[in-house]
Amino acid sequence: MIDYAKKLCIHDIMSFRFYHEHILLNRAPHFRKDKMWLKSNLKNTNTRVIPVWQNKNLFKENNKKTPSPIILSGTAALNVCNEAREIVFLGLLDNKIYFAADITNHEDPFSMDLPERSVFADLRSLATSINYMEAGYLAYARAIVYWNQNNQFCGQCGSKTKSINGGHERKCISETCSKSIFPRTDPAVIMLVTHPTDDKCLLGHNKKFQGLRFSTIAGFVEPGEMLEQAVAREVFEETNIKVRNIKYQASQPWPFPASIMLGFTAQATSTAIICHDGELEEARWFSRQEIIEMSNSDDMLPPPKLSISRWLIDTWLKKF
Ligand SMILES: [Zn+2]
Repeated sequence: MIDYAKKLCIHDIMSFRFYHEHILLNRAPHFRKDKMWLKSNLKNTNTRVIPVWQNKNLFKENNKKTPSPIILSGTAALNVCNEAREIVFLGLLDNKIYFAADITNHEDPFSMDLPERSVFADLRSLATSINYMEAGYLAYARAIVYWNQNNQFCGQCGSKTKSINGGHERKCISETCSKSIFPRTDPAVIMLVTHPTDDKCLLGHNKKFQGLRFSTIAGFVEPGEMLEQAVAREVFEETNIKVRNIKYQASQPWPFPASIMLGFTAQATSTAIICHDGELEEARWFSRQEIIEMSNSDDMLPPPKLSISRWLIDTWLKKF
């Protein structure tokens, strides 16, 4: 596995610094089409299974500390695979073979003899406080299971679809249609906009944020749109600010449920803020000092650590 990481030149990948990119799992796509290999390895002692139930991952309960992720092996892994409604091959890591098992078909997943004192919980709320490698595997399992769950019917003719290629493709069962469906990731842009004088940056408070958190501006890319156009459009729609000098910086997978955040910097050419579209409750220009104070304050919050928004802000702070 170490060789695989070296071959991948993992340290050259810009977004390695980010949370869900710390996956060193070899996705081994050549095994996806090998039904015999997949079937025989479901019973292998080296098999590891990540159960997913109602888009939640399994954790060991811990009264005082953060719950730790549970990845099943041995009899427990085999039992869950036998009871799952869908199994997806994830990849190889340290001579282990990883699968995700969707057990949402069970009203009570604990009827399946899962480890004692375990609980299904939303990864999104725990992702920044658990081991980053494991968070990456759990995020991958959750995302591919979600995609399979949400593509049970053909969008072209309405017939049922079936899982093929180890769970990485679905095919319409209608012989006259036979449409193939592949996993999709929704691109979203997220940008640090600096003031024309470069001594302030633009942050907004979304009404969906918990607490008085301020973050960089973000939004989804629309069909037929260049990423740079999406940056300029979203900033203008949300804050009335016009930008130029738009530059890509880094990306962060955000599989909640199926996005990737594409991080940019941009320079404002105007300064008067108007929150147009109702997404943001408030947007402001923040000086470096105000951001540093916000990090130490209980009233206002910066974006969470390990988020690309925080990284864009921290990178701008470190420039000076
Ligand atoms: Zn069809």
